[in-house]
Amino acid sequence: MTARRRLLARLRDLRAQGPAPLSELVHLVATEMVAEVCSIYVLRPGDLLELAATEGLNLTAIGRTRLRVGEGIVGLCAATAAVMNLPDAQNHPAFAYRPETGEEPFASMLAVPVRRAGRTIGVLAVQNRAPRHYLETDVEELETVAMLLAESLAAAGATDGAAEGLAATVPRVFAGTTLMSGLAVGPVILHGSRPIGVKLLSDDPTAELARLEDAVTRMQRGLDELIAGAPQGGRGADASASREVLEAYRLVASDAGWVRRVSDAVRSGLTAEAAVQRVAGELHGHMRRIGDAYLRERLADMEDLAGRLLATLAGKAPRPPIPPGAVLLARRLGPAELLDWHAGGICGIAIEEASPAGHAAILARALGIPAIGGVRGMLDTAETGDEAVIDADEGQLVLRPEAEVRQVYVRALATRSEEHAGWAALRDKPAVTADGVPLRLMLNVGLTLELDQLDRTGAEGIGLFRTEIAMLARGAIADVAEQAANYARALDAAGDRPVMFRTLDLGADKLLPGTVIEEENPAMGWRSLRIGLDRPALLRRQLRALLLAAAGRPLSVMFPMVATVAEFRAARGLLLAEAKRVRPAPARLQIGTMLEIPALLWQLPELLKEADFISVGSNDLMQFMFAVDRGTPSLYGRYDLLSQPALDMLEGVVQAAGQARVPVSLCGEAASRPLEAMVLAAIGLTTLSMPAGGILPVKALLARVDMGAFRPVLSAIRRGSTGTASLRDPITTWAREHGLAV
Ligand code: PEP
Ligand code: MG
Repeated sequence: MTARRRLLARLRDLRAQGPAPLSELVHLVATEMVAEVCSIYVLRPGDLLELAATEGLNLTAIGRTRLRVGEGIVGLCAATAAVMNLPDAQNHPAFAYRPETGEEPFASMLAVPVRRAGRTIGVLAVQNRAPRHYLETDVEELETVAMLLAESLAAAGATDGAAEGLAATVPRVFAGTTLMSGLAVGPVILHGSRPIGVKLLSDDPTAELARLEDAVTRMQRGLDELIAGAPQGGRGADASASREVLEAYRLVASDAGWVRRVSDAVRSGLTAEAAVQRVAGELHGHMRRIGDAYLRERLADMEDLAGRLLATLAGKAPRPPIPPGAVLLARRLGPAELLDWHAGGICGIAIEEASPAGHAAILARALGIPAIGGVRGMLDTAETGDEAVIDADEGQLVLRPEAEVRQVYVRALATRSEEHAGWAALRDKPAVTADGVPLRLMLNVGLTLELDQLDRTGAEGIGLFRTEIAMLARGAIADVAEQAANYARALDAAGDRPVMFRTLDLGADKLLPGTVIEEENPAMGWRSLRIGLDRPALLRRQLRALLLAAAGRPLSVMFPMVATVAEFRAARGLLLAEAKRVRPAPARLQIGTMLEIPALLWQLPELLKEADFISVGSNDLMQFMFAVDRGTPSLYGRYDLLSQPALDMLEGVVQAAGQARVPVSLCGEAASRPLEAMVLAAIGLTTLSMPAGGILPVKALLARVDMGAFRPVLSAIRRGSTGTASLRDPITTWAREHGLAV
């Protein structure tokens, strides 16, 4: 019998005799794990971890030794919900010495969080005299005991006070980053809160294994139906949407490795449910340590699968019914889960761990659900049914808002839906300012599911087609035929309206499976066109797919991350060479470039002789101009496009392009914000390309702006700048004084 199996068997015997005292539990664990110390710390009111039982430390410390969450190794384990495996705990920077425990002789420590329903309610730790790096099997064993302990503590009501101690009724505000802008107010639904009282130890591992295998088969069938089954009807675009992301997900689902891990856990004596939770818990621990965004996505997919498998085992639908207007709080969210929740009518999403390029973010944007990511700590205090506001524009979650605060948001939401109704009327009207300056508002698109936004928003075309997004969603580069079909769909949907295809912008945070690029600064590393020029076969294949998709129609292609005119020339050369081979030739071939790297600003005269159009990628251009990583939330708001240097730079580009008669547009996120759009229009940008959500609000605002009046005001504000980081305040003041809602 393996050690783990024996420990589980002894635990089962212990439980069979009724609720086991904590003292017996620590004794048993210490004996079975050959540890000199085993201790249980329980969360008490005021975020304090109290020593509740120990084998090996001074018994007089029980009930006396208390550590704040975040204090000491135990506190750190609770705060981060991460396993601490330390051969030399006392020299860890977080170590907090408590003389009453008598723990000086013990060098090594393994501490695991005790978690229940998504919150940490205690810590279980073992210690040894000899410096020892505990094995993966030790970690698994202790985690299994922690699961049992969580149930025992809850059953004994030991943590009731702790739950109250976490200030469950006090309003809390959590900061995050915007994944999809918008506002949602409603009751909280917690994603992935586990059913309480799951049986943990199985009586018959063989029968349990059969039950698991049956559930896996049924789950995979359900998944196939979800992926294959939703292409028609009102939600057809959303569903076909998901196909691209779900294709990648399906690959994970069909990977046998994770099922094997669950089966192994069942063989060791756990029930199928407990085994799935265990493996999911391990994945959680691994995820925290993996820096690679792509791998994290894969693990999120796996957690999605684990949730589905648990639901299947319980014979339940993948998600519970949703109260009207509910907002979803999740640690992570897989693509299939997001689709399920969306179908249930979720109105907003806050995710603790989500990257803007991740699957959840891609789908949230495509489906138009307000969403924020990187919202740390919310799940330790949120309860199902709590009221919450997701203010995705500001990137924040307000949990249990004060009544007045909630009212403000409810009013804002009502105003928005009235505005939305008004905006909808603008859909078929041209974009023009109050004094008759015409503008072109275009759409940024990443997935074909977003194409229906062209008609929904009345956009005048696609100003940025991010071709890499579909590849990231699939997890692989599609072959030429598949790429061509994808691009043709965009051209079909656009009809007479132009589409600016951007060639693959991979690298940095957008990595395909198997791509391991070790770089200090991936945003400035081997990425994007640099890869395309170094691996011309890849770029050529994409260019051929674009030419095939055009099939004789006009075609516009631009290149990302161009640093020199020579790079642009080389890329254009590849396209022209390919164009000679593909028939029918496009009716008109326009070859342009993104302007994202500042060095290009000083090559404009040369560039403008050769490029047919320029599109300013302000997301990256701002990143490199101010040396401000676009993905670091703590830097948000420190620098501003609405500042003297950025506006002077942009105006220079507009003037140079105007003199050379080369069309210039701007396609960064800034274009979708009405105040920014107003300023960009004032400095002469007439084409703005943006995510779908921005088009009607921008059109609505511009329709009320008298550009003739605003331009001199803006010039004066810029001239009066005294080196401040932002000119936003005086511009906003002018707008408000003129009755513009910004
Ligand atoms: C940009 O950098 O502004 C841009 C539009 O490209 P991406 O956001 O895809 O990097
Ligand atoms: Mg860019």
